[in-house]
Amino acid sequence: MYPLTPTQESVVAKARELARTVLAAHAAEVDEQGRFPAESMEALAENGFHGLLVPESLGGLGGDLVLLAAVIDELAQACASTAMVYMMHNSAVNCYLADPAKFETVLRDCAAGRHLGTLAFSETGSRSQFWAPVSQAVAADGGVRLSASKSWVTSAGIADGIVASCLAPDGSGASVYLVAKDDPGLSISGGWSSLGMRGNQSNPMKLEDVPLDDATRLIGESGKGADIMLGKALPVFLVCQGAIGIGLSEACVEATHSHLVGQGFQHTGTKLADLPNLRASLAKMRLETDKARAYLVAVLQKLGSGDPEAMRHALALKDSSSETAVAVADLAMRCCGGAAFSKHLGLERPFRDARAAIVMAPTTDHLREFTGRLLVGLPLFG
Ligand SMILES: Cc1cc2nc3c(=O)[nH]c(=O)nc-3n(C[C@H](O)[C@H](O)[C@H](O)COP(=O)(O)OP(=O)(O)OC[C@H]3O[C@@H](n4cnc5c(N)ncnc54)[C@H](O)[C@@H]3O)c2cc1C
Repeated sequence: MYPLTPTQESVVAKARELARTVLAAHAAEVDEQGRFPAESMEALAENGFHGLLVPESLGGLGGDLVLLAAVIDELAQACASTAMVYMMHNSAVNCYLADPAKFETVLRDCAAGRHLGTLAFSETGSRSQFWAPVSQAVAADGGVRLSASKSWVTSAGIADGIVASCLAPDGSGASVYLVAKDDPGLSISGGWSSLGMRGNQSNPMKLEDVPLDDATRLIGESGKGADIMLGKALPVFLVCQGAIGIGLSEACVEATHSHLVGQGFQHTGTKLADLPNLRASLAKMRLETDKARAYLVAVLQKLGSGDPEAMRHALALKDSSSETAVAVADLAMRCCGGAAFSKHLGLERPFRDARAAIVMAPTTDHLREFTGRLLVGLPLFG
């Protein structure tokens, strides 16, 4: 379905293999214990996946958004927490790629599997409206000192690099900095315990007077951080969220299919698959998943060709794919009855995981508002 080159096909085949072995082997335990998917992320790092977007000249795979989407789709089918951690990493990598010369060492470390990145955009003060940071950096010798209260940071305490937003010292706009895990003044609170995506450790992070040198840490220009947040991180985030929704939906279709054809009624000698209402539900799940994947491929094509409507479609992609995953997982739960309600079918995990994307910023509410504004010719932010 994804328009991949033969080389990219082999990368996706490797992702599928890792998903079906390493990720699948640990997903239930990661969810149960609410722990970071360390084994899965290590396997991805060892196989070069941390450098998927990094150019070959810096040791990476030189991949694009199409390859990334196809890989994330595979990972999310086995462990959505791993797919989300990996999504945040790639969103960060695309920010580093805004200035490959400045961040060459970091990019080489990504390619070598030595660097995991993440985003710290959401703040306690502006909640889901991440494009409006309230923390303001203070000018210091050759850079800034940053104090901020970040409300949710995936891979908090584990990620080596945190792409953090704030207001520029002169208040002219946002700035974006690379904060390192061991920078003085950084602390993590919480103890991630959530409904779904229980492996991703999206904990609150406090930055207190963290010294950041502009020459090595400022990403993009001071006061023009929106270019990085919306121009670099957001497209990758939206595409990956689209792919996660599809992977989750696919997992539900597969589990429902094998339950319907595998189980039945002893007293009538019929299978669950002999019931037309259940077959119709399965058909609906298949159709919605296929439609979501087809839309993702169409959006990738628009992004790749520089279509002026590409960003509107990328926003709509996260909306539609996330809502599809919630609807498909709900159908799967109804279709597979009490067997789904218990944990052994593995359906209640995607049912819980799928709900994360609709409240992750930009939330479905924001996406509808943005799309509506674009459709009637209003600026995105009013
Ligand atoms: C699993 C998970 C992982 C995350 N990881 C990260 C991460 O790595 N980095 C990061 O920066 N953030 C992360 N987030 C945070 C996320 O992006 C959102 O900021 C967060 O979920 C918002 O929650 P809130 O309670 O602050 O929402 P609120 O802002 O309180 O929103 C509550 C409701 O109000 C609605 N709402 C808010 N504003 C408007 C508006 N203007 N118009 C209409 N409706 C509105 C929202 O849609 C939502 O339904 C993560 C969140 C989750 C759930």
